[in-house]
Amino acid sequence: MARVLIVGAGPTGSLCAALLRRELPQRPLRIVLWDKARGAGGRMTTSRSPHNPRCTADLGAQYITLRPAYALKHQSFYEDLLAHGVLKPLTAPVEGMVMEEGSHNFVTPQGISSIVKHYLTESAGADVFYEHHVTQIYLRGGKWEVCKKTGSPEQFDIVVLTIPVPQILQLQGDIVNIIKESQKQQLESVSYSSRYALGLFYEAGTWIDVPWAAQYITNNPCIRFISIDNKKRNIESSEFGPSVVVHTSVPFGTAHLEWDKEKVQPIILDHLENIMPGLPKPTSIKCQKWRYSQVTKAIPSCPGQMTLHIKPLLVCGGDGFTHSNFDGDEVPIKCAAYPKSGATRNKQPVPVKGRKKRVLERIQVDIQMYISHVTRFVIS
Ligand SMILES: Cc1cc2nc3c(=O)[nH]c(=O)nc-3n(C[C@H](O)[C@H](O)[C@H](O)COP(=O)(O)OP(=O)(O)OC[C@H]3O[C@@H](n4cnc5c(N)ncnc54)[C@H](O)[C@@H]3O)c2cc1C
Repeated sequence: MARVLIVGAGPTGSLCAALLRRELPQRPLRIVLWDKARGAGGRMTTSRSPHNPRCTADLGAQYITLRPAYALKHQSFYEDLLAHGVLKPLTAPVEGMVMEEGSHNFVTPQGISSIVKHYLTESAGADVFYEHHVTQIYLRGGKWEVCKKTGSPEQFDIVVLTIPVPQILQLQGDIVNIIKESQKQQLESVSYSSRYALGLFYEAGTWIDVPWAAQYITNNPCIRFISIDNKKRNIESSEFGPSVVVHTSVPFGTAHLEWDKEKVQPIILDHLENIMPGLPKPTSIKCQKWRYSQVTKAIPSCPGQMTLHIKPLLVCGGDGFTHSNFDGDEVPIKCAAYPKSGATRNKQPVPVKGRKKRVLERIQVDIQMYISHVTRFVIS
């Protein structure tokens, strides 16, 4: 039985597994996913309060935007996610959001990672392993031998890498020489923004008295976005407390990238206190450093995927390989400060020429592109 390893259990990896299973229902195929994290989601992650697992916060992606251009093309994906209750229309007020005409925003009542979990369920029988950090990839006897930080290496017929591009370039072993010089240059040209996110968790009965569910902040050097996360997702309840998500600006994230999270957290909290004086004291706080937050420059010409080796197949994809509407290096600072590769950022008042396509939509296009690519190889 052919063994396919998908590295990364974010939206790209999970959708890849689901579509591969859907495309090849009869095929004896073992699909394996490895992720270095302790759970599913990638940058579409949902954190839980250590005091109450029902009190959750989306620390990465916030909401999904369907643009008119994709409404028809990706109808089945959205219908599926809506039918399963994974997506619901965003109805809560978001201050500072600029809606593009004809577009629709969706939230995930169960947290943004529920999109990934949905696709993992759809991948019916794929074996998902967390805390499997891929470090080296070797070519041995016509198969890929994949090493992880702990445990024995394993062999696979096909490997699909869905990890951020800089992390592909960190992999060691034969892959270093397999990546052609021209591909390496393209991969090295991909850039991501960096930012911090804080999740503040409160006990049941806490009331955060603001008229909005989320707000884009334009006049603070540290904070760019605040969300009363459960309110944004329309899941306010007396059984669990609210949660607040804070995203820093990219300039702040970049300036403090090499700092310890423990030192950055109080700075963000000070700024939050200035913006929201009197905010109740949370029961716990999670600080997340997003070294690779959103793509500011994708692979030139945005092929959707890159084939590193044909037989056996080694292919990579993800948001670093997708289309970009950035106008070269002339990206206005506002775009760089809150890049649009991550869907929701298009909601800010930035020049149209700097807008990027929404991530989920793009991921679907790309996944379909490389799923047919992978499928062809599995069949042949
Ligand atoms: C702060 C923030 C806000 C965002 N806002 C939005 C938004 O509102 N809407 C939107 O649509 N998008 C948003 N995005 C972008 C969106 O989350 C990403 O574009 C999307 O998650 C990319 O999916 P992916 O599967 O390609 O990569 P990822 O989600 O990054 O998944 C890659 C996975 O690979 C794993 N991995 C990495 N290296 C290894 C390794 N060596 N071995 C094993 N596993 C590894 C990681 O742990 C991760 O789980 C946001 C992102 C951030 C950080």
